[in-house]
Amino acid sequence: MPTWEPTAYDPDDFANRRHIGPSPAEIATMLDTLGVGSVDELIDQAVPGGLRQSEPLAWAPMTEGAVLGELRRLGALNTVATSMIGQGYHQTVTPPAIQRNVLENPAWYTAYTPYQPEIAQGRLEALLNFQTMIIDLTGLEVAGASLLDEATAAAEAMVMAFNHAKGKRSRFFVADDLHPQIRAVLGTRAVPYGIDIVAGPVDGAVPDASWFGAIVAQPGTHGHLRDHTALFEALHGVGALAIADVDLLSLCLVKEPGAMGADIAVGSTQRFGVQPGYGGPHAAFLACRDALKRIMPGRLVGVSKDANGNRAYRLALQAREQHIRRERATSNVCTAQALLAVMASFYAVFHGPAGLRAIAQRVHLMTATLAEALRAGGAVVEPEHFFDTLTVTVGVGQAGILAAAEQRGINLRRVGRDRVGIACDETTTLEVLGRVLDAFGIGPVDALTATPSIPDDLLRGTDYLTHPVFHMNRAESEMMRYMRRLSDRDLALDRAMIPLGSCTMKLNAAAEMAAITWPEFASLHPYAPRRQAAGYLEMIDDLEAKLCAVTGYDAFSMQPNSGAQGEYAGLMTIRAYHAARGESRDVCLIPTSAHGTNPASASMAGLTVVPVRSADNGDIDVADFEAKAAEAGDRLAAVMITYPSTHGVFEDTVRRVCDITHEHGGQVYIDGANMNAMVGLVRPGDIGGDVSHLNLHKTFAIPHGGGGPGMGPIGVKAHLTPHLPSDPGTGEEGAVSAAPFGSASILLISWAYLALMGGEGVTQATRAAILNANYLATRLEDAYPILYRGAHGRVAHECIVDPRGFAEHGVTVDDIAKRLIDHGFHAPTMSFPVPGTLMIEPTESEPLAELDRFVTAMLDIAREAGDVAEGRIAAEDSPLRRAPHTTEDLVADWDRPYSREVGCFPAGAFRVDKYWPPVGRVDNAYGDRNLVCACPPWEGSPQQ
Ligand SMILES: *Cc1c(COP(=O)(O)O)cnc(C)c1O
Repeated sequence: MPTWEPTAYDPDDFANRRHIGPSPAEIATMLDTLGVGSVDELIDQAVPGGLRQSEPLAWAPMTEGAVLGELRRLGALNTVATSMIGQGYHQTVTPPAIQRNVLENPAWYTAYTPYQPEIAQGRLEALLNFQTMIIDLTGLEVAGASLLDEATAAAEAMVMAFNHAKGKRSRFFVADDLHPQIRAVLGTRAVPYGIDIVAGPVDGAVPDASWFGAIVAQPGTHGHLRDHTALFEALHGVGALAIADVDLLSLCLVKEPGAMGADIAVGSTQRFGVQPGYGGPHAAFLACRDALKRIMPGRLVGVSKDANGNRAYRLALQAREQHIRRERATSNVCTAQALLAVMASFYAVFHGPAGLRAIAQRVHLMTATLAEALRAGGAVVEPEHFFDTLTVTVGVGQAGILAAAEQRGINLRRVGRDRVGIACDETTTLEVLGRVLDAFGIGPVDALTATPSIPDDLLRGTDYLTHPVFHMNRAESEMMRYMRRLSDRDLALDRAMIPLGSCTMKLNAAAEMAAITWPEFASLHPYAPRRQAAGYLEMIDDLEAKLCAVTGYDAFSMQPNSGAQGEYAGLMTIRAYHAARGESRDVCLIPTSAHGTNPASASMAGLTVVPVRSADNGDIDVADFEAKAAEAGDRLAAVMITYPSTHGVFEDTVRRVCDITHEHGGQVYIDGANMNAMVGLVRPGDIGGDVSHLNLHKTFAIPHGGGGPGMGPIGVKAHLTPHLPSDPGTGEEGAVSAAPFGSASILLISWAYLALMGGEGVTQATRAAILNANYLATRLEDAYPILYRGAHGRVAHECIVDPRGFAEHGVTVDDIAKRLIDHGFHAPTMSFPVPGTLMIEPTESEPLAELDRFVTAMLDIAREAGDVAEGRIAAEDSPLRRAPHTTEDLVADWDRPYSREVGCFPAGAFRVDKYWPPVGRVDNAYGDRNLVCACPPWEGSPQQ
């Protein structure tokens, strides 16, 4: 007989369950496996009691509906205006096909950095398109796969030129018509290197042999277009490098920097379909001459071949990066802006060269029409030659004109005390021009009648984007399918767990992502009047308060756009603190097990890195630490530690390390990349930290984007607050990013994560992360030694498994990583922090079934490795070495000593939803010997 049984299901309960993989029943099973009675008992074993925070995190969770409602309310507090401020940020149209198929598609945004190229061919191709686009438009020979923002790209170029001069020269010319935020960041970056900035008008620049380089703007911040050929020649005459900071869209019409003789070009791709987002994220670019490629910062995608000789893409010249070069790395850039670079590259694919040229021409004619109308109305308009930006001298009427424009829904730029700036963009219409003119008391225009104002000798004379990828049929079907094909080649979180130690690849929930594309957040210009950003400021304040509660710090700076930028910003804050106290301290102690960005950032901050040994159990060797700290004495500036350690263990000596540092007058930097093991349990500010960065793109749910975006805000104790990064908009030294709140729009994601979860929910997430890691350690320990454990035999949120016993039989950690692809998994972190090992971090987001599928795969691999070790099959013939297996392998003549079934469908692999890597094992050495970093011809490519 039917009955009315009330169901126990509470939809709001999902608020936490969304992020926490194991269900209550699964948790019970897992606790059984671990032999503990409760999660509390496990946490007591894993986390030293003396370090636990005394107060629980208290804010209440919100339902999904409530969070979205609150975001709507905050959005309504922002003003959506037509921003014509320019200054490196422009309104743009994100083609809906790109917004939906890339930006809002987890297949793109949940991918990891393409270190495993076999499962990343799609995004590697998109990034190669990006590099090709930059190479073509700048007219230079090599371009990287994105940097963090335009200002830091300019700073990276300056440091490249400085390194190129090998320390023999210290002066660098900075044209005073670069955007103020770029001058600000250059100023900050110059100090620790002892670079002496020569600032002045570009027209008066007279290079001499004390200069190692110069940077100029094209167009200048007030709109001037110039031919820099003579200056660049003069720079080369004295042996200095020429750097151009360029507007990418202008290069569709204007002579490219390569043709003017530039050695390096930098800029932003924001206006290629990526919304301003109140500061970001957007992809910056850096292109250079071929001779400089080995000192280039950031990632570079290159072409190589796979085991069958087919074309395959992968990251090139990785030996330049921090993981290998440490404090001698070319830069500390790790996470960059991959997703945004992918978007910009698709914008170029979408419009093609003719489309881009048409957009640029329209922008220019709008500007020229506006200039004519203003001049006809009696206004004093500069410059004579411009692309999209005008500067109007308005005298004492400045405030009135700015206000009149704002009343008409338009933001103009305040320039000095008596001028205003106006920049046109892709969205500017005659109607918009009418409102601008009205603010000046001038009548409207009814047609684009003006003649172009770019002089003939400044017009571009070369082709660009000639590769067929930029010449597709313009039907959206073709675009949509191209984007789909590329994403299908990749393995991201939407298909399987990505168990990357130190990288916390957790769920990026759909509701958390929703608001980033709302115009109320996406369209805001970072230098719009603050009153127009009231919703943003309220959200950021609330996020800061919650992050302070989580960390035990007193204040946050939201400027840094990545973890590594956070490290640099934090160390610069420490540096400023010591300097303010009249102390010159320059030594930074860093454990040898630290992430490569730590020493790279320390050297950028002008500190001398002194490595500290690890003890046999993986902990910091406290005796060595104490000795090195004493030796540094009053030169000790800082100590950088990671907590829990990069070995995945909560060390109980951490307080002692902090105390020793403070006794010697040093400051403690705690790398917060492992906060996923701490939130709600331990606060870095309580255990002795003075400053930490948080990787919001790890612990706080911002997606990894295939290598960015990220956010690395820093928290500090009160005594450091006065020394936090300053507002870049002032143009004064002290800022670390181009925008006051870094990539402000993605702060919404972390805000939504914290609001949904509540204080208790994020604490549960930490507990589940530790449970999942210990479950994997226990399930795997019979097959693979677990390298490090805490005092009670437990790991933190990650663990290192040690397959080195198989290595003497010829089975490498690479073989295991590639074989995991056949099982449908992304490999764990390889050879960090211990060479030859794998570091596994399941995160709280993975349910038991997925953990078990991974265990099945790892145990099966251990069995196959055992077959090699015991001589049943040679390493070269084993499915481990021949992995990954492609469909081409499957249909080719099968001459292997194991079956197709074993090769292609090992235990745990899905049969129907099997992930097939598009290429076999990629040959890295071949790619570095035969470096190709732009799109190769399509003929002969098996993927097309
Ligand atoms: C990820 C990570 C960093 C660097 O962060 P990015 O955002 O990639 O620059 C620094 N330290 C540790 C321990 C990390 O895991």
